[in-house]
Amino acid sequence: MARYVFITGGVVSSLGKGLASAALGALLQARGYSVRLRKLDPYLNVDPGTMSPFEHGEVFVTDDGAETDLDLGHYERFTGVAARNTDSISSGRVYSTVLEKERRGDYLGKTIQVIPHVTNEIKDFLDIGDDEVDFMLCEIGGTVGDIEGLPFFEAIRQFAHERPRGECLFMHLTLLPYLAASGELKTKPTQHSVKELQSIGIAPDILVCRSEHPIPEKEREKLALFCNVRPDSVIAAYDLPSIYDAPLAYHKEGMDTAVLNAFGISPAPKPKMEVWEDVSDRVHNYEGEVRIAIVGKYIQLEDAYKSIKEALMHGGMANRVKVRVDWVDAEVFDREDAAPHLEGYHAILVPGGFGERGTEGKIKAAQFAREKKIPYLGICLGMQMAVVEAARNLAGLTDAGSEEFDHEAGKKRFTPVVYHLKEWVQGNHKVKRKETDDKGGTMRLGAYNATLTAGSKVAEVYGTTAIEERHRHRYEVDIKYKEELEKNGLVFSGMSPDGKLPEIVEVKDHPWFIGVQFHPELKSKPFAPHPLFRDFVRAAKDNSRLV
Ligand code: GLN
Repeated sequence: MARYVFITGGVVSSLGKGLASAALGALLQARGYSVRLRKLDPYLNVDPGTMSPFEHGEVFVTDDGAETDLDLGHYERFTGVAARNTDSISSGRVYSTVLEKERRGDYLGKTIQVIPHVTNEIKDFLDIGDDEVDFMLCEIGGTVGDIEGLPFFEAIRQFAHERPRGECLFMHLTLLPYLAASGELKTKPTQHSVKELQSIGIAPDILVCRSEHPIPEKEREKLALFCNVRPDSVIAAYDLPSIYDAPLAYHKEGMDTAVLNAFGISPAPKPKMEVWEDVSDRVHNYEGEVRIAIVGKYIQLEDAYKSIKEALMHGGMANRVKVRVDWVDAEVFDREDAAPHLEGYHAILVPGGFGERGTEGKIKAAQFAREKKIPYLGICLGMQMAVVEAARNLAGLTDAGSEEFDHEAGKKRFTPVVYHLKEWVQGNHKVKRKETDDKGGTMRLGAYNATLTAGSKVAEVYGTTAIEERHRHRYEVDIKYKEELEKNGLVFSGMSPDGKLPEIVEVKDHPWFIGVQFHPELKSKPFAPHPLFRDFVRAAKDNSRLV
């Protein structure tokens, strides 16, 4: 049976619970344990798939096709453990399962209530796979005291109560505000937030305190006494220059020791921190800088492209360069010349996206990169727009476009070189979609294999011809145009195993121009940069020597 660590937050939101959970996972792994991380989100959406990236940041997709919170991306980047469908749950999903069961008559006529029906559903979720790992780390979204979070807090209280003693612990993340006028760190908000937790029956074992200033011993003792935790279980979490310093920093503050102590694991296995020492070294010690433009639509909220930003950084770490990312709004040059906006960058990346807005700008960005021989990485929509660009400007199909935009506009304006896919093969079964399906969950989602052409640039980058990558899209490049496009210099160097769906295109006679239908950024780790990002940044570095 796994030991459970529940991570909750108090005082204010956005304290970095996800990061603390991920770093703890990495620290337990460094001690030789196996871990799994989970996120329980109180919002009412069934999953974040239909939430705007402006509001909620990126949707992180798992191998098994779940659309999840971006915190699962942190978990994967820090632990290397592939997240699964069963690692993310929201109130929306819990309630929809409970209501489905009610309609089916599974509750045999009983009155359905939050306790026990909703809480039982949450506990069943927590139980899944508890015999597979040493530690299960479960983060509860939101802040203690939020109305919608209550069923989750009640469920984890019951869960811990029902397990043998000493198999669950509660780690609470709070903030110690600093009053400049009196030069003091204040502990009262933390005390109140712990009281709030205690009032619902949860006594935290470990306090993790975010603070911009060193926590004096006196305050630490005060927190320990008033919040009923041991003094060495008050862990300071200071602001860090990079998120990848977190495992080393939390280790130094004794987080993993406090957790193992609380579980009575003694003597604790010695930690192996070399991986994180190397990661930290690469983050801070580099020999140059490359400038990369991300030409997108959701640029106001950088979290919308969280994994891409991280993957680029990993690529930089592999090449010992700092990657400076500029967010360029594609809409700005929808109708004007792209050159003034893109000149001077060592590489251009066009990420995924939905809807027509900004796509003419993205097409121009692809054209600019192709003609000026600037390294280009197109991801999902960024690949589709590179194909549209090649169709228009290389193959002479001047009205080429994507069916997505015709659907959006409600009329036919383009020759659809990118079309709406309604039937495809996953593993050994067929998947079908209808025009009228709900928006949520109607995409080609999750891990799919692709076969790369031996001798192609991507095969060289990956060092193999068989890959598996994660997808999230409704539309596909139509192979009907493959021959014509290949005659004109666009190579289809990666295809689905049945040869029907183009997965990768590259431009012939170009230093580095690759478009991929999938999302390689989701699989990149600081200690194992994704080959495409590693090589893309290498190409940017080579280019930076030229410009
Ligand atoms: N909108 C495109 C599609 O659905 C691309 C999706 C994406 O970039 N993730 O196919």
